[in-house]
Amino acid sequence: MKSKDLTGQQFGHLTVIGRVANRNGRPMWLCQCDCGKQKEIAGKHLLNGHTISCGHIKRDRNNSIAPGYEANKVDGIAVFLLDDKRKIRTDNTTGVTGVKRVRYRNGSIHYAAAITIAGKRYHIGTYDTIEQAAKARKEAADKLIPKK
Ligand SMILES: [Zn+2]
Repeated sequence: MKSKDLTGQQFGHLTVIGRVANRNGRPMWLCQCDCGKQKEIAGKHLLNGHTISCGHIKRDRNNSIAPGYEANKVDGIAVFLLDDKRKIRTDNTTGVTGVKRVRYRNGSIHYAAAITIAGKRYHIGTYDTIEQAAKARKEAADKLIPKK
């Protein structure tokens, strides 16, 4: 059976460089992954969507890439995978000690309360308002700081 020429075609992160020797009677293709690695992959696996990278993507299976995955990459790096809290910025502009303003990726603003007692950092929680965060911090301080 004559197999289709896949040279130059793109399958997920892979670009087909050219045909290589069959393996187990199956047409194999040398592919360049966009992470820099090259790998020989069965044409069947490219065409049915089974293989979409050299293997650098953990869930390298059919339809495993969430919609928007490519669109959300920055300079080719899936930065949104690096921070599971999807937090892009933290600064301390609330004027309240131990309460930080946190902007989430969706643009919503939250206030994270934290406290350091005897060198140990406690994350208290994230709240919708500075007041709630400040109150939670005060309550945590009352609880955590040993009474004289
Ligand atoms: Zn790769």
